[in-house]
This record gives sequence, C-alpha cells and structure tokens, in this order.
Amino acid sequence: MDYCPFCELASGNVGLDLIAFQTPNVFVIPALKQRPLNRGHMLVLPTTHVVRMINLESSLVQELYAVAGRVSMAGRKVFGATGSTLFLNDEAPDQQLYHLHIHVVPRRSGDEFRIPDPMIEELSHEERRRQAILMRGALG
Ligand SMILES: [Zn+2]
Repeated sequence: MDYCPFCELASGNVGLDLIAFQTPNVFVIPALKQRPLNRGHMLVLPTTHVVRMINLESSLVQELYAVAGRVSMAGRKVFGATGSTLFLNDEAPDQQLYHLHIHVVPRRSGDEFRIPDPMIEELSHEERRRQAILMRGALG
C-alpha cells in the first residue's frame, strides 16, 4: 500500500492535536482544505484503511454515520452552522486520498456551497488545531 496520511493519523504517531474525536474504530479531523464560508469542515474516517464503501462492515458504516451526525450537531454549536452537507467519495476519480472519509460541511444560508469549489483553500496547521480543540469540547 502507498503511504497514507490518514492511516498515519489513525496510528496516533503524528498529528494527535488534530484529532477532534475518536472511538476505537472512527476518528474526526478538520479538513485541510476549507471554504472561507464553511469553516469547521470536518472529516469522519475509519481507523482502518478502507478504500471502497462495499468493503466496510455494516456496523462500521453505522458507526461512521452516527459520529458524522454528532459532528454535524457540534458544528451548529461551535461554528454557528444552521445545518450541514455530508458527502463521501467512493473511489471517485482524481482524489488525492482514497482512505474513505465522510465530509461534514457546516452550512449557513447564502454560503453558495458547491462541489468541487474553486474557493476552497488550504488552512494552516494552527487554524485546524484550533478547530480540533473546539470540536473536542463539543463532542466530549
Ligand atoms: Zn489509509
């Protein structure tokens, strides 16, 4: 398998400060690239390297989406969202990282969110770390 940054995060060897929430099977991190109008965009991932949705155990699908639901609610609390858009790329072409993950994008009226978005930009580690701290507090 090629190097996978998400597996490296799941291993706990690096980037612990970016982990916003964790169970034995699932973890949550702030997305590297976020729109200015949708700050607080989180990724919900299995700790194991799974590429295809079909290869996820149904109990893990359930756990991933249960955590995504909690992340969506926490985004209302800490990022002032009024709702969220959730999406998952199942081996979609031209992705940079194929380790499955659910995007949870905080939404506000008039934010003009669309996929893919030319406004998306890379965040500093510090800004992502601040978001992780906020989410950690909200997700307990
Ligand atoms: Zn991986």
